[in-house]
Amino acid sequence: MPTNGSFLKPRRKTRRLTVGNVAVGGGAPVSVQTMTKTETHNARATLRQIEEVAAVGCDIVRCAAPRSGDAEALREIVLHSPIPVVADIHYDYRLALTALEAGVACLRLNPGNIGMPTSDNIEMPGDEKVRVVVHEAKSRGVPIRIGVNAGSLEPELLMKHGHPTPEAMVESALHHIRILEDLGFFDIKVSVKATDIARTVAAYRLLADKVDYPFHLGITEAGTLGTGSVKSAAGLGILLAEGLGDTIRVSLAGSPVDEVRVGQDILESLGLRNQRPNIVACPTCGRLQVPDMIEMAQEIERRVTHIKVPLNLAVMGCEVNGPGESKAADLGISLGRDYGYLFKHGEKLRRVEADKVVEEFVREAEALAREVEESRRDEKAAGGQK
Ligand code: SF4
Repeated sequence: MPTNGSFLKPRRKTRRLTVGNVAVGGGAPVSVQTMTKTETHNARATLRQIEEVAAVGCDIVRCAAPRSGDAEALREIVLHSPIPVVADIHYDYRLALTALEAGVACLRLNPGNIGMPTSDNIEMPGDEKVRVVVHEAKSRGVPIRIGVNAGSLEPELLMKHGHPTPEAMVESALHHIRILEDLGFFDIKVSVKATDIARTVAAYRLLADKVDYPFHLGITEAGTLGTGSVKSAAGLGILLAEGLGDTIRVSLAGSPVDEVRVGQDILESLGLRNQRPNIVACPTCGRLQVPDMIEMAQEIERRVTHIKVPLNLAVMGCEVNGPGESKAADLGISLGRDYGYLFKHGEKLRRVEADKVVEEFVREAEALAREVEESRRDEKAAGGQK
């Protein structure tokens, strides 16, 4: 397995903040987040979706709060959510205050856009509204993510730069950062997202030279599950390989569960996360002996999702690459027409009949995971006795 350090640049040194119980930046593991796609005021449906993403390992979840009913529902959502909740606020500072009172673990807002006039309080100056929110966030120890999107840049920056260029995005981010810093607030993370890889990568690179705040990475509105995942993997892969990025969100026109899975796959494939099995699977070719190889690999992948241990598993379809890859894995199966050979840690274990392959492979993988967990426990206990 590749590991960080062997081919990735060292992680960028940043400040550290915490979103609930999740550390972000300052060398903390890169976390995965997503956004709920329910109407937030429907707390029940929102919590159901949060449970679903938490079950597949999401670290942080964000909920949009465009109206007061949404911000108010955050109280119940925060109370029952198993993972930290971020409130996404635009324009109306009162929504931010309600979200803070609800106990959210982080705000996503751009201070430059919450000073807008509001229906019942137009006499309060914009900078006073920002000051009130920032003061409240600070007193509660709640960080703020500044989220710049190429698609919603300030008109004056568009006028100045002509287009939403990386330079314009970074200028926008620095403008919002300065507002917070001038109020003595430094618990900041930042994103500078575009819908394409080129601008996104350029913007994060530029910003990395200017601030030491942790980065929330994402390609915004990346696309559907297939194309959006590839675009996100390519874009985030470049940045993560350069050591940039402390928390990520894959933004798909798809389910938040898929967003989390793809985000985790990106981190796992780069060796930045090591919390579940890595599956090497034969893609099949004209040498294939087994008619249902792809279904078998998919079934095995599905049935080992509960394993939270980094195992290398190989499911291979013929005698050309099968034995070699199976021996190199922690657990491997090299399939023939009616049977396969199971390998564990490089040693041939036994012959398995075709109709028992999935069942026996999964059972061996579970046993191997238990062995790893037991040896971890023993190591921990031995460490504690020193
Ligand atoms: Fe083809 Fe065998 Fe490789 Fe599968 S493992 S792709 S069948 S050569």
